[in-house]
Amino acid sequence: MNSFLESFLALIFPPICLHCHAGVEKSGHLFCALCEKALENDGGIEEIKEGLSMASSPFFKLYVLYDYHGPAGSLVRELKYGQQLYLAKTIAAMIALEFHKQSLEIPDYIVPVPITFFKCLSRGFNQTERIAHYLSKIWGIPVKKSLKRSLKGKSQAGLSKLQREALSVHEFSLVQDLDLQGKDLLLLDDVMTTGSTLHKCAETLLAARPRVINGLSFCYSI
Ligand SMILES: [Zn+2]
Repeated sequence: MNSFLESFLALIFPPICLHCHAGVEKSGHLFCALCEKALENDGGIEEIKEGLSMASSPFFKLYVLYDYHGPAGSLVRELKYGQQLYLAKTIAAMIALEFHKQSLEIPDYIVPVPITFFKCLSRGFNQTERIAHYLSKIWGIPVKKSLKRSLKGKSQAGLSKLQREALSVHEFSLVQDLDLQGKDLLLLDDVMTTGSTLHKCAETLLAARPRVINGLSFCYSI
C-alpha cells in the first residue's frame, strides 16, 4: 500500500491491538506482537475427551482451541458484540489451520450450535453460523442447521429480560428432513464453559443416527 494511503488510514483507524489495545507495529495485524505470541503459545487443538463410546457420551471426540481470556476471546467478543462479522472468517481459518496441522479428518457436515430466535433477532446473526459458513467454504462441505434452540421457563411476567434469560432452560430440538444418518458431524460452538450446551446438542443429534459426532469449541472458559 502506498505510504500516503497507509498514513491516512492509520489516522482514521489507529492500529490498535484487538486484545490489549496497545499499538500495533505492523499494519494489517489484529494483535500486537505480545498478543500474537500469546496466541501462538496458547493455540493448538486440544482434545479434552477421547475414546468414549457413543453409548456413554454423545461425543466421539471433543476439541477446544483457545483460552477465552486470551487474545482469541477478544476475537469472539468483537465478532459477537462488536458486530465485526469479518472476524468469523479469521476464526474459521484458525480452526482449519489447526485441523490441518493435526491431520484431523474433515467431517461430512458442520452443525453450528444454534441461538434462540429472539437472540438472533436482537443480535442480527448467529456468530457460530457465520464461523461455520466460512469453515464450510474452506473445507468444501455443507453446513447443516440441524438444531433449534428454544427457551423453556416458568411464568415470567414482570421479570426483566436478563432475569428471564437466567431462569430459563435452553432446550434443543432436531430440525426435520435433514439426512444425517451415517454421517460424521462436527458440532461447532464459539465458547464452551461447562460443556452442557454442547452435550445437550449432541444428545439431540443422536436421534438422527449419525456415525460420529465430534464437538469443537473455538474458545473455552473453564
Ligand atoms: Zn495486544
